[in-house]
Amino acid sequence: MIDPVRLAPSNLAPYAISFDNSRGRRHNESAPRWRNEFQRDRDRVIHCAAFRRLEYKTQVFVNHEGDMFRTRLTHSLEVAQIARTIARALHVNEDLTEAIALAHDLGHTPFGHAGQSALNSCMQGHGGFEHNLHSLRVVDQLEERYPEFLGLNLLYETREGILKHCSRGRALRLGDLGRRFLERTQPSLEAQIANVADEIAYNHHDIDDGLRAGLLEIDQLRELPLFQRTEDTVTARWRTLEPKRSRYTVIREMLNYFVSDLITTTQAKIDTLGVSSVDFIRRQEAPLLGFTAATDQAHQRLKRLLRHCLYEHPRVIDMSERSQAIVKALFTVYMNSPDLLPDSVVRGEEDLAQSVADYIAGMTDRFAIAEHARVSATS
Ligand code: MG
Repeated sequence: MIDPVRLAPSNLAPYAISFDNSRGRRHNESAPRWRNEFQRDRDRVIHCAAFRRLEYKTQVFVNHEGDMFRTRLTHSLEVAQIARTIARALHVNEDLTEAIALAHDLGHTPFGHAGQSALNSCMQGHGGFEHNLHSLRVVDQLEERYPEFLGLNLLYETREGILKHCSRGRALRLGDLGRRFLERTQPSLEAQIANVADEIAYNHHDIDDGLRAGLLEIDQLRELPLFQRTEDTVTARWRTLEPKRSRYTVIREMLNYFVSDLITTTQAKIDTLGVSSVDFIRRQEAPLLGFTAATDQAHQRLKRLLRHCLYEHPRVIDMSERSQAIVKALFTVYMNSPDLLPDSVVRGEEDLAQSVADYIAGMTDRFAIAEHARVSATS
């Protein structure tokens, strides 16, 4: 007989999400035998179709641009790695944090943010499209794998972590899960960790990908005092390091700096405030997880530089515009000729726009490109 205590997340602080304070699942299920409930959520995410499709979805660079760049899948794995380290250090629920991190981008459209903004503009008049909310829709409804329910029937706390943002109107319709956006309270520390780990991950891997793609120059990064400082330290320590290994070392040291600052600053806050329950964390007006003021500034500066030099680079903009044109064309074609949709897509008059949005959002980059070519040839 397996002892359930042995499978429980260990070494949890009183403010961590545990079996005792979890709000559970929407549909009751018997307990898993070889893993805990939070690990079960993580495993359900890994086995779902939307997770596999992340392999061929854009992070910044469209998938076919090169094999070395991050995709949504490798990005999600990096987020999970960083999030687990922070969760473990703060003695919160590592399994839950991992489940949220792996699921956080499940609702992303093909072509990254360009795809999402195109789909959002197509969906004006039909409720709009928001990738965050769509991630929740994927795990709550769109995945069809289990006999007893639609979706993955994830724990309340995993779903809470996936839903990072939400408008008031939508929050009203979401019931319990939407309440914190109306009351301006916070999600669990595990959810806060997955959220910040996402930012730390993309800031650093985008430096790496941007340099490799030749869109970012090392001199642009040297405008950041943190980068310059870190590079100086690395150069002083390893004088003959070749450029590639030096670049990796500087990026790794910076990442480590942000993660360490986040852990020590948050732990100090927890100690000072005497945080002793999940409720305390939820009741705060601002997230408990955070950097020192100086590190937060360095983080914001890094984000601004990446936006200016990388995300708004003419080559990235050009790619975005082409991607948006594909998404918009697909949406128009399906709305005008629903027969072009596969049988598995519901074509009811009322929900046609939503079904089309679900279908397009689920596409990988390469499938969207091929499908665009196919429907263009037909119509
Ligand atoms: Mg992300």
